[in-house]
Amino acid sequence: MNAPSSVARGMSTAMLAIVGMMFGACADTASKPDASGAVGGAQLVDGRFVNAEPLPEPAGTLVQAGLWVRKVWTTLVPRDGAAARVDFDRQALHGQPSLTWIGHATFLVRMDGVTFLTDPMFSDWAAPMAYTGPRRLVAPGIAIGELPKVDFAVISHDHYDHADEKNVRELAARGVRFIVPLGLGEWVRAAGGDAIELDWWQHVDVAGVRVHCVPAQHTSGRALGDARQRLWSGWYVSGPTHRFYHAGDTGYASSLAEIGRRLGAPSRRGCPHRGLWHAFTGSVLPHHARAGAEAGHGARSRAHRRDALRHLRHLG
Ligand SMILES: [Zn+2]
Repeated sequence: MNAPSSVARGMSTAMLAIVGMMFGACADTASKPDASGAVGGAQLVDGRFVNAEPLPEPAGTLVQAGLWVRKVWTTLVPRDGAAARVDFDRQALHGQPSLTWIGHATFLVRMDGVTFLTDPMFSDWAAPMAYTGPRRLVAPGIAIGELPKVDFAVISHDHYDHADEKNVRELAARGVRFIVPLGLGEWVRAAGGDAIELDWWQHVDVAGVRVHCVPAQHTSGRALGDARQRLWSGWYVSGPTHRFYHAGDTGYASSLAEIGRRLGAPSRRGCPHRGLWHAFTGSVLPHHARAGAEAGHGARSRAHRRDALRHLRHLG
């Protein structure tokens, strides 16, 4: 059946289908440094990854406490405000190219003969178990069982709303391969999947397209004590005729412009609403405790927001 669009965590639902093109080749090559020869991979400090640009000062205790209370409240109390569900168009879904927003940061992309998913998340809870984190408001735009054959999936980082163990297991059982930032491969393999790990500015050739791991301004962590032990990233997929950029979760950083400079403007972008909002405000993750200061930082600086918008336009 045609199922309904989704979004985890207060995000809306929708589906886009764009029409298009042809089929491509399929030979894999190994991961290697970016052809630009550029340096600038992610840095580890005391065993934890750091952003390329320092974050603003953290919020005060009161602001952080307020954000955590809100987080708990929105986890336990049902909310309205979800976007209307939109049935997907099967015919458009099989177009080449087509871009389908399944919900939150999950997109199904078909371009240049390849089919891939971003941040596959089809579960009801963005949490290790029910009632321990945000609940999905709208069912996925496409049920996981109704997906067409998928060649690979990229995962931007390990937060529960972007990396779902059950979904990785289900997709791996269908032969879907995963491309992930440094440190996330072991987690994918533990869930039964194959994973290629990349550092920022590295790429791999898969099924006729080139998949670039690009910097994002964010963080990671799935449990107490494992913050920033796995890298976070965006993804830029370039094929013979199309280029697609997926932001994952990112705040504004000069790396947004750097992606455009190094790789060119994408022809399609998968910027979840939240990701765009981060870029507009200069914030990183309002649902995390640091958000107060970061959102404040964005609000203080109109010039900063202007820069973010300009760089997003530069990205395409
Ligand atoms: Zn995140």
